[in-house]
Amino acid sequence: MKITIVAGARPNFIKIAPIIKAIEKNQSEGKTISFRLVHTGQHYDKNLSDTFFEELNIPHPNSNLEVKSGTQAQQTAAIMIAFEQELLENPCDLVLVVGDVNSTMACAIVAKKLNIKVTHVEAGIRSGDMTMPEEINRIVTDSITDYFFTTSTSASENLLKLGFDGSKIHFVGNVMIDTLFQNLNRITAPIFWDEFGLETGNYIVLTLHRPSNVDEEKSLQELLEGIDKMVGDKKIIFPIHPRTKAILGETNLNLKNILFVEPQGYLNFMFLIKNSFAVITDSGGISEETTVLGIPCFTMRTTTERPETIEIGTNNLVGISIENLTLAFTTFLENGMSKRGIPELWDGKASERIIDALLKV
Ligand code: UDP
Repeated sequence: MKITIVAGARPNFIKIAPIIKAIEKNQSEGKTISFRLVHTGQHYDKNLSDTFFEELNIPHPNSNLEVKSGTQAQQTAAIMIAFEQELLENPCDLVLVVGDVNSTMACAIVAKKLNIKVTHVEAGIRSGDMTMPEEINRIVTDSITDYFFTTSTSASENLLKLGFDGSKIHFVGNVMIDTLFQNLNRITAPIFWDEFGLETGNYIVLTLHRPSNVDEEKSLQELLEGIDKMVGDKKIIFPIHPRTKAILGETNLNLKNILFVEPQGYLNFMFLIKNSFAVITDSGGISEETTVLGIPCFTMRTTTERPETIEIGTNNLVGISIENLTLAFTTFLENGMSKRGIPELWDGKASERIIDALLKV
């Protein structure tokens, strides 16, 4: 079986790493399975791309489509044009896409129109929020997927409710957590750990990059100033996403606790998360990692496609206003965190299950 694996953006790299390892393990056991890795070039900063390939030992891509930035339509179209050429020159039996970025949707469409089977890892999750580009990517990708691999029973149920064939839906667990477990003993303190006086439990990690939080400069500024006041004397480490940085520009902010740092590599970032007092974020992936590590997480969104992180894990969905965040954070300071649990099959073996299932189809 010849698989073309697609990855375009930071969370994709983290998700494909263990899938490739699982394929290589099967190859070493003599199974007939091979892969070709295509990087679409959606994320191209060293901090968001190369560092992850190096740290997670992901093989150098066989092809890089180098699409770079653009509007939603420009980027999607550029990926489709380049990926069609790539598939025509390098035929395969199956295209495997992960997550919910533009590369995921664009490459699924191209593959399906060339009559190549599509596999979607992290299928079936839904926020119900059609203003999120990711939700549109999820819906379109799933609508033309042949083999669905889900992270939760609720994702599988979403697909069943939509009428997809149950025999094509495989609940396998979470590949992002495979990567977490495979690298937990390699995580290391970032270079600024001592300089900033960081110690386990004395700081908060903040990440913000979703349009609803960062696209409006004035509200982003107010949000950051509000968070800065809310945390008392705790430091806040803010690895600032290039998107957020571009919007803030040279804005002069009056901040006492927030420390801006570059987007972190995986090993430094997971060290920061694992040792933090709490996390404030609008990322979906990070709320999965905090769930497994038992770190309190405040998600600045009004919806989530990952309900298990709230029902079972440590995630709190607080909306996008500073008032709601402050209320949730103060309640946590007073009462602590009552719940902690790891969702079913988030055990580090999802990738093995995916490859086992694919070898059978
Ligand atoms: N991440 C990282 N360094 C950072 C910020 C995030 O390694 O400075 C990792 C994080 O651990 C998670 C993934 O990137 O695994 C999430 O990426 P992002 O928030 O961009 O995507 P989302 O999950 O929101 O789709």
